[in-house]
Amino acid sequence: MTELAEAPAEGRDGAVTRIPHWIGGKRVDGTSGRSGPVYNPATGTQSGAVDLASVEEIDAAVRNAAEAWETWRTVSLAKRAELFFRIRELFHAHREDLAKLLTAEHGKVLSDAMGEVARGLEVIEYACGIPTLIKGEFSEQASTGIDVYSIRQPLGVVAGITPFNFPAMVPMWMWAPAVACGNCFLLKPSEKDPSASLLTAELLKEAGLPDGVFNVVHGDKVAVDALLEHPGVAAVSFVGSTPIARYIYETGTKHGKRVQALGGAKNHMIVLPDADVEMAADAAVSAGYGSAGERCMAVSVLVAVGDVADPLVEAIKQRLPKVKVGDGMQPDSEMGPLVTREHRDKVASYIASGSDQGAKIVADGRETAPDGDGFFLGVSLLDNVTTEMDAYRDEIFGPVLSVVRAASYDEAIGLVNDNPYGNGVALFTRDGGVARQFQFDVAAGMVGINVPIPVPVAYYSFGGWKASLFGDSHAYGPESIHFYTRGKVVTSRWPDPATSKVDLGFPQTR
Ligand code: NAD
Repeated sequence: MTELAEAPAEGRDGAVTRIPHWIGGKRVDGTSGRSGPVYNPATGTQSGAVDLASVEEIDAAVRNAAEAWETWRTVSLAKRAELFFRIRELFHAHREDLAKLLTAEHGKVLSDAMGEVARGLEVIEYACGIPTLIKGEFSEQASTGIDVYSIRQPLGVVAGITPFNFPAMVPMWMWAPAVACGNCFLLKPSEKDPSASLLTAELLKEAGLPDGVFNVVHGDKVAVDALLEHPGVAAVSFVGSTPIARYIYETGTKHGKRVQALGGAKNHMIVLPDADVEMAADAAVSAGYGSAGERCMAVSVLVAVGDVADPLVEAIKQRLPKVKVGDGMQPDSEMGPLVTREHRDKVASYIASGSDQGAKIVADGRETAPDGDGFFLGVSLLDNVTTEMDAYRDEIFGPVLSVVRAASYDEAIGLVNDNPYGNGVALFTRDGGVARQFQFDVAAGMVGINVPIPVPVAYYSFGGWKASLFGDSHAYGPESIHFYTRGKVVTSRWPDPATSKVDLGFPQTR
């Protein structure tokens, strides 16, 4: 977590914006006396100071949301759908405003930020179909004169705790289905880039969402623990790193909550000898270095099978000098800075450790980072990486691509299946039969066949296997409707004096 600053923060450049909470339909200044610094990663200067909530502030926010829920749960599906169409229009109209906030605090280039908003919008569009999505089933005459039907009802107040790398889209994965299902939502965004959550709140209010249905509480472990322990929070969705995901799942379930916790990743892209090398090289560069490698679906390990390795490494090497690293607001930048100085330095340490442990540095991002105080690192390529090296074992979450050379398909898939993570994986080949076998054999939640970042469309659900997901439920799509509601089955009979009698036996169908 980021180092804490005293509140109110005095910015080094004198232009530090206070970033408050959003509770009950308005901005609410924090009262804990604690705040965290927010940086512009492209310049390295502090741009904001985000309020960090206390246990008491979380309690007040939960109570406020619980009050709002009493009304929100009664709002008809027709009105909710109509509201979501308005939300869709407003977010679409303000997509560039949202994207600019992402670039300013996360660092990703503006075109990538626009892509993030576009993918999030798909989830809002999915939520517009809530009347169809939440439909139950009806069995007429299940027994003589008796009908049985199922309904799904909202849980109440639910919370979302989100990571720094998708400050708009990942919250959309959560709040859109949760609110459409009739819940009130508390978002605890990353304290590294919290401003997009406030614009989200303002747009939702403008669209007509009643006060208290969507709330933002900023904070660190204090706020997260308060949400996990609060009896008024029915469910928690989390996306972030694996150690915290595990903690969230264990603590939340211990306190009786429904929890879905999506964790970290180490995504492999396997390239078979028959693959199109140029296409695979384009894909590896795009998926390895896009958003400076700060995507949970970024390709981190390239598994080159057999004699494809040399031409593939060469094709990637040719492309690297052309990747333009710079301030994400500049239209010609293709890759921005990393989110914080500490994270940049940690990522850079894997280039050094890779080299010390025997990998070959084909491209060294420490030498090609733009000058200045921004948290920049150029693109790095490590060849001859082995499974014992730190660069292979850890989730680096930066623009460092490791090439592991494998002798066979079996060895390559063995690497993926033995890896503790199981988020995404990709196979590049021209052989349909091998691809089909691969999708059957591979132990990962999201599989790409000649697609390097297989993030599914909004009407499928998103989630990994193994240490990339704790809990049973994937994010967005049909599983989210299930996650944010609970089932009720009604067995009903209307009074009919002709069939009424006393019967102490166990009810049987007739
Ligand atoms: P993180 O785990 O550090 O933080 C995520 C959230 O947890 C933040 O809101 C943060 O405030 C909170 N948090 C951090 N430390 C905490 C603690 N000790 N106790 C309680 N709460 C705590 O993750 P990050 O660095 O913000 O994001 C990057 C990570 O997220 C990567 O590991 C990436 O793979 C993962 N991620 C996964 C997916 C996915 O779909 N599986 C998607 C995006 C990001």
